[in-house]
Amino acid sequence: MSTYWSELTASLEPYVPGEQPKDRTYIKLNTNENPYPPSPKALEAIREAAGADLRLYPDPTCDALCRTIAAYYGVTKEHVFVGNGSDEILAFAFPAFFSARQPILFPDITYSFYPVYARLYGIPYITVPTDEQFRIDPQTYAIPNGGVIVPNPNAPTARFLIVNGIKEILETNKDRVVIVDEAYIDFGGESVVPLIAEYPNLLVVQTLSKSRSLAGLRVGMALGHPELIEGLNRIKNSFNSYTLDRLALAGAIAAIEDREYFAETNRKVVATRERTTAALRELGFEVIDSLANFVFVTHPVKAAEELFAALKERGILVRYFNKPRIDRYLRVSIGTDEEMDALLGALREIA
Ligand code: PMP
Repeated sequence: MSTYWSELTASLEPYVPGEQPKDRTYIKLNTNENPYPPSPKALEAIREAAGADLRLYPDPTCDALCRTIAAYYGVTKEHVFVGNGSDEILAFAFPAFFSARQPILFPDITYSFYPVYARLYGIPYITVPTDEQFRIDPQTYAIPNGGVIVPNPNAPTARFLIVNGIKEILETNKDRVVIVDEAYIDFGGESVVPLIAEYPNLLVVQTLSKSRSLAGLRVGMALGHPELIEGLNRIKNSFNSYTLDRLALAGAIAAIEDREYFAETNRKVVATRERTTAALRELGFEVIDSLANFVFVTHPVKAAEELFAALKERGILVRYFNKPRIDRYLRVSIGTDEEMDALLGALREIA
């Protein structure tokens, strides 16, 4: 039976995340998690926080974590916002800065949560075309709009813009909020956080899920002009003022302070990515140059869907998107050297 409300909920198209199989024997290269464990100091801090104080509510302002992030980037805490993963920050940023009045812009091939949020909040959007190699041209963002969101590097293509490219988008959209989603910035890209001093319309969103190996803790952060941070706080407090729990706050602070471990694991991921890229090219794959912890690859002969299925049969999970333009590609997260060797070995047999 169709009811008023069932029609409404049926019209919502939720985001479909990558598989999280219960079978832990899979080599899991499908959701861009970090293959290395979190910083031992972060784990220790979480263990310490898992005590009697859990009976108390956490600090609703997340003051200590905001100060830690501010110190890391050399700004004041008024420039910092934190949330349960960057997905939650984006869920607050859309209604804070975008509206039904004018369409927002994002690349045609990009993180599929953006259209989900836009539809959820009734915000119209225009998808700006990337070229046939998924390159983003900053000039194409100089059209009338109600705001812009660009991930840098982009997902799932791994295409990245240099700082001047982002600057160009900021210059042509000075009266609109430009969100730069830097989920994958720590694997070799250059962050535009330093530009927040110059551009009050810039909000940079980052996450501890990738480069700090804490996808399971759910911590994201945003940096921008205090007015933008205030906007995010208004939306957050309209839902729930206790966003981050005590364990997440403690773990996140320790993870950000452990710069050495962060540098070491990122260095390993980058080295493995470069080695994997070269090996895949040798096998005949086209691989887009990546500054992320994943590569986007296509084979001139073998269909991506078949490769996905054959790899899965061999216990290796990668990501296949059954969508126009990218259905010839696979997105492969960078695992340990051993995991990537297993992938390459399997592909030698299949491809
Ligand atoms: N932005 C992009 C571009 C992503 O790929 C992801 C991870 N799927 C996120 C944001 C969200 O990450 P999290 O919520 O774990 O911080």
